[in-house]
Amino acid sequence: MADMPRAKTVIALGPVRRKISPMSEIAFENSYARLPEHFYAKVQPANVRNPQLIRLNANLAVTLGLDVDWLASPDGLAMLCGNRLPAGAEPIAQAYAGHQFGGWVPQLGDGRAILLGEVLGTDGHRYDIQLKGSGRTPFSRGGDGKAALGPVLREYILSEAMAALGVPTTRALAAVLSGEMVRREQALPGAIFTRVASSHIRVGTFQYFHGQSDTQGLRDLADYAIARHYPAAQNSEQPYRAFLELVIAAQARLIAQWMHLGFIHGVMNTDNMTVSGETIDYGPCAFMDAFHPEKVFSSIDRNGRYGWGNQPVAGHWNLTRLAEALIPLLADDVDDAKATAEAAIATFVDHFSDHYIRGFRAKLGFKPDGGSDSNDAFISGTLTMLAEQKIDYTIFFRQLTKLAAGGDKEALSAQFFDSNSFDDWFEQWREIAQPSAPEFAKRLVMMRAANPVRIPRNHRVEEAIQQAYTGDLTAFNRLVAATVDPFEENSEFAEFEQAPTPEQVVCQTFCGT
Ligand code: AMP
Ligand code: MG
Repeated sequence: MADMPRAKTVIALGPVRRKISPMSEIAFENSYARLPEHFYAKVQPANVRNPQLIRLNANLAVTLGLDVDWLASPDGLAMLCGNRLPAGAEPIAQAYAGHQFGGWVPQLGDGRAILLGEVLGTDGHRYDIQLKGSGRTPFSRGGDGKAALGPVLREYILSEAMAALGVPTTRALAAVLSGEMVRREQALPGAIFTRVASSHIRVGTFQYFHGQSDTQGLRDLADYAIARHYPAAQNSEQPYRAFLELVIAAQARLIAQWMHLGFIHGVMNTDNMTVSGETIDYGPCAFMDAFHPEKVFSSIDRNGRYGWGNQPVAGHWNLTRLAEALIPLLADDVDDAKATAEAAIATFVDHFSDHYIRGFRAKLGFKPDGGSDSNDAFISGTLTMLAEQKIDYTIFFRQLTKLAAGGDKEALSAQFFDSNSFDDWFEQWREIAQPSAPEFAKRLVMMRAANPVRIPRNHRVEEAIQQAYTGDLTAFNRLVAATVDPFEENSEFAEFEQAPTPEQVVCQTFCGT
């Protein structure tokens, strides 16, 4: 394969250059807008009448090297709502395609999102700054390009909680009320969300060019994605294969992390899967309370395609679509290219299983490298028991952590309705974990870091949204504050640890688009 074309850097994504902006405005870079014109449409955000800041993420702004005071000023607010474009912004809507619930859609694209540009953060990384809900684009199809307040708050809460939980994710820089109503099943207050991402390149972005047999576009996109996310692949014998394998590894790890936390993405369509390995598109997602492997929340996921335990299957399916899209770049000979794609895809299972098992070993206080196969069988047995006993997933692992730290058994055994099951299970756990062994202290540190005290439970998210619709942001702000430090006990936020009462349980979530 020595004659394979090497990935070239089409865009200089060089070292951080800090521009000094006299207005304290944002020093935008626009590397994506330098890609060929059919990669995007140039658009202008719509003006809104009466914008009001809901929340600004000052910590994130600092990481991005942005001036917090300027962002909070009337000029900053004008940018965050799309009313005023800072110098240097070149707003675009990105083109992409995708498989939605298995059905091919050759053109989707940013229908209600506009990329203002990129910034170079103080950490040396490049970030997209995107407005979600700021009006129609050429990809809007029948939609209004707007967002209602509820989905904006949900994305803010969930994406910031995921970041705090240590999961790669897009971030929330700000949420702004537009001062206008949007029409859904009923009229709802409109809002604009400022999303920050390592990039918005999706599996579906590759599918877009592949679907049009545009091999040059595919190559330009792959070169760009390699330069931006996986520069080490440039030095590989087969850069595009290396790229594919790196995306597969990143996604396998991501999906395992979701599962360790009881997170269900809900809409794992190929247009909602990044090549960076960040969680994106917080639509009908949720953390589960009582554990069940087939748990689904999304109102549109009728067949459980994206249920908790099916997420690795869905991820593997999506990554196979990415591999297919990359075939024209993988080798000159189609059979060679297919063999390369298949070999890459075959690595998913090992990557996923490795992360999945290691994460559960950490959650249970087991040795990171395991012991015997029976320990792995104990993990699946534990999950079966949790489902049978309808035990709250987060509380179970946190109570186990407390017990392992010397707490008493009662708080954990109280989670079981069948005490014999608990006694059997507990004896086996103690035998494998050996909590009295001197080196257990190290494993306790890992347990604490793997088992959060607080997650943004669905009923709390719903409560925050419903209260916000009455004009009161107290519950929203408090929930965001409660999930900033999810692994630390904090009596001030004790109510967020609790499982919902039967009346509080939220069974379904909606995209709200
Ligand atoms: P999602 O389900 O959020 O991944 O969105 C799927 C597709 O629908 C994307 O192309 C979105 O840009 C588009 N879309 C979602 N909501 C709207 C809306 N309100 N207006 C226009 N396009 C939308
Ligand atoms: Mg999407």
